Amino acid sequence: RFHRRNRPCRYDIDQFTPGFMSIFESLVPSDEEISKQKQLLTTLSRLINKEWPTSKLYLYGSCANSFGFSNSDIDLCLSIDDKDMSKVDIILKLADILHAGNLQNIQALTHARVPIVKLMDPITGLSCDICVNNLLAVVNTKLLRDYSQIDKRLRQLAFIVKHWAKSRRVNETYRGTLSSYAYVIMCIHFLQSRRILPCLQEMEPTYYVTVDNNICAYFDQVEKLNGFGAQRKDSLSRLLWAFFKYWAYEHNYTRDVISIRTGRIISKHMKDWTRRVGNDRHLICIEDPFETSHDLGRVVDRNTISDLRGEFERAAEILQYDPNPIVTLFEPF
Ligand code: ATP
Ligand code: MG
Repeated sequence: RFHRRNRPCRYDIDQFTPGFMSIFESLVPSDEEISKQKQLLTTLSRLINKEWPTSKLYLYGSCANSFGFSNSDIDLCLSIDDKDMSKVDIILKLADILHAGNLQNIQALTHARVPIVKLMDPITGLSCDICVNNLLAVVNTKLLRDYSQIDKRLRQLAFIVKHWAKSRRVNETYRGTLSSYAYVIMCIHFLQSRRILPCLQEMEPTYYVTVDNNICAYFDQVEKLNGFGAQRKDSLSRLLWAFFKYWAYEHNYTRDVISIRTGRIISKHMKDWTRRVGNDRHLICIEDPFETSHDLGRVVDRNTISDLRGEFERAAEILQYDPNPIVTLFEPF
């Protein structure tokens, strides 16, 4: 492990960047798809506002955080201030409103951990999930999008990491592996550690909101940070190599928590994340930037931590030695 941690990069690593870039470009949604998403947002907002004039519908998740692949489902959040209705009542009424509006395949999932309505729009062909009053997700969506505007390598790196995670089946939270959201946070943390990204939450705030008693404040004038990491010239393939080497051989799983809120590693000890509490095992610790008591790695258990670390090691070895990493890295599990 010590030897692997200190291994220098292969001399020909940069030749793989164009190949990874073409994979990235093949996954980016087209302008046509993005305008269809906006069109659906407008249609649904009109329909819902007729019934609830003060409500507001937000796009969140991958279709709004800039880390979405083409053809992914759309996540929407309805913000509504109605003291007389429970979340479940709102979901049921929302399903009725959507029925009346000719949307299809409507399902109200009232018993899910996060209750949602699922639907399909026959005009655009898009499917979406609507949740209620989950504003923290709307705010963390904006944080991720703001980070992606500072250095274009973040979006490229995160696309390849997500594509790898989906191909290798380590992006399935119901099975005990990590969410796409967690992978993007891991990429942001990694680029902060290489001084390619700043830490927006440690800078003078220009954006503040309070959501469910969490204060969310950070510097969001990211156009002023253009060129922040420009002196660091690492290519996409070199960053991928270093990212997987970090998670395979350098990260200290028994001691460390990654935190994009502070732009640093913090200790598990400080957060009291050293032992299992309830179902939270804290075997890989990824602090949520706003809900700081929330470990995005909490879904990982004894078995899936070794699957995950095995996959990090596999990826690191491929980027180190494989003659054709652009193919081998994504071979189906
Ligand atoms: P995919 O392309 O895989 O659908 P996604 O960005 O939509 O990616 P998800 O992990 O499905 O990723 O998350 C959707 C959104 O929900 C995230 O962008 C984030 O705003 C929010 N979210 C997801 N998981 C968490 C979590 N554990 N804690 C807080 N917010 C979360
Ligand atoms: Mg999603």
